[in-house]
Amino acid sequence: MRVEQPVPTVVPERHRVAVVGGGASGVLTALQLLTTSGDSALCVTVHEASGVLGRGIAYGTSDPRHLLNVRARHMSAFADVPSDLLDWARRAGRDPDPQGFLPRMEYAAYLQDTLASVADHRLTISAGRVDDVVAVPGGFELRTRDRVSTAGTVVLASGNQAPQSLTVAGADLAGLPGHLPNPWDLGALRALPADAHVVVVGTGLTAIDTVITLLEQDPGRRAVMVSRHGLLPFGHIEQQSTAWVTRVPDGPLTADGLALLVREQVEAARAQGVDWRNVVDGLRAPTPSIWRRLELEERRRFLDRYVRDWEIRRHRMAPEVAECIDGYRRAGRLTVVGGGIADADVRGTRAELRLPALAEPVVADAVVNCTGPLTDVSRSEDPLLQALQARGLVAPDPLRLGIDTTPAGEVVGADGAVVDGLLAVGPPRKGTLWESTAIPEIRTQAAEVARLALARATA
Ligand SMILES: Cc1cc2nc3c(=O)[nH]c(=O)nc-3n(C[C@H](O)[C@H](O)[C@H](O)COP(=O)(O)OP(=O)(O)OC[C@H]3O[C@@H](n4cnc5c(N)ncnc54)[C@H](O)[C@@H]3O)c2cc1C
Repeated sequence: MRVEQPVPTVVPERHRVAVVGGGASGVLTALQLLTTSGDSALCVTVHEASGVLGRGIAYGTSDPRHLLNVRARHMSAFADVPSDLLDWARRAGRDPDPQGFLPRMEYAAYLQDTLASVADHRLTISAGRVDDVVAVPGGFELRTRDRVSTAGTVVLASGNQAPQSLTVAGADLAGLPGHLPNPWDLGALRALPADAHVVVVGTGLTAIDTVITLLEQDPGRRAVMVSRHGLLPFGHIEQQSTAWVTRVPDGPLTADGLALLVREQVEAARAQGVDWRNVVDGLRAPTPSIWRRLELEERRRFLDRYVRDWEIRRHRMAPEVAECIDGYRRAGRLTVVGGGIADADVRGTRAELRLPALAEPVVADAVVNCTGPLTDVSRSEDPLLQALQARGLVAPDPLRLGIDTTPAGEVVGADGAVVDGLLAVGPPRKGTLWESTAIPEIRTQAAEVARLALARATA
């Protein structure tokens, strides 16, 4: 792989594809561009703020106890070669269980090795954050702090945004002692005292990671996880058959109708000795079509009424992780509560939080923000998203779950029209597709977007 080589000027503009973001989405897109293009004049530049590809937030963890939450057999980089990750792991001398859950940091190595195996003169890696993208005749200009480059097509693969800041009754908790705004800063978690008492705000998969890193390191540490609902994700089961086909009727759908359908299917599955997880997983493939068939008001009703119940069943913990969490709770080291935070104050060098679910206030050495990535791009502090919105090149989707795109991944601008040559992959497409964050969906998007980019490059 070449690093920071200037693109030869003889390459026509339209043959240049810039991918902004080198996490999983960016790498999967670059892989598809390089493996499906027979065009040796194609130039693919991946711009990655950190300079290191394949990691992003999910796979950049340095804690080997952070496991994938999707089975290894579903995590191949290529939908049409399901064994690719397993084959890579075997080549690396491991004996992977196709039904098992690999450490997430190994997945970054897999993406890096896979990209390296197809990289040639067509690929350039540009270390640095893209701060602005400007439409110019024939394509786009990409601006970083110290460089300007051009491309005929730009793929936005900038991924998950930072969590929104923690507030209690409108007051920002940033000034609270021990406030840790970035849950993925494992150094800060590890540096806490061996007997630290920590409040983890959030009860999703990021909060679970945080608790694992905190409590595994020192047996004297304790944690309280708190969210509005206080619900933890369910665990995967060890072996899961894939025999169940979840039937979804044709035609328009409503959120209530969908909830009823899932309940009926779960009952039907149970009567045949099939676990509810198969019903949930059986809905994964038809999800884009289901989401399309829900009117905007029905999507809103789903978000208001059903989203929490869906998320904790759909995004599950690896069985080993679920066992660990149960163990901490049984040992009295971990408390999980709903009801949110009523009040927060300073107590010397520590924070004092009043949680309505607990009789006594919690005096904490640290308060970790695990509320999950901000999705509303209109409130984002990301310079690129701000610049793109100011130029009208991107706009929030109607539900403010990401940016507006067509189902195929073409970005829709503020004027409601497709922005020619601007494409998107990954989490920002959640508003259009609903399922848009995990590898099985992202690899399919990457293949579609690469096809669009190549068609444009060779037009
Ligand atoms: C903690 C966690 C665990 C997960 N575990 C799994 C799992 O086990 N299995 C699964 O299928 N999915 C998992 N997911 C879902 C995950 O979102 C996707 O699998 C995938 O990692 C998303 O990758 P991404 O590249 O779109 O985003 P990100 O991981 O957010 O990466 C975006 C990258 O773009 C770069 N970037 C952003 N803006 C710019 C810019 N302006 N200029 C240059 N570079 C930029 C960032 O530096 C970053 O490297 C997990 C998600 C999280 C948060």
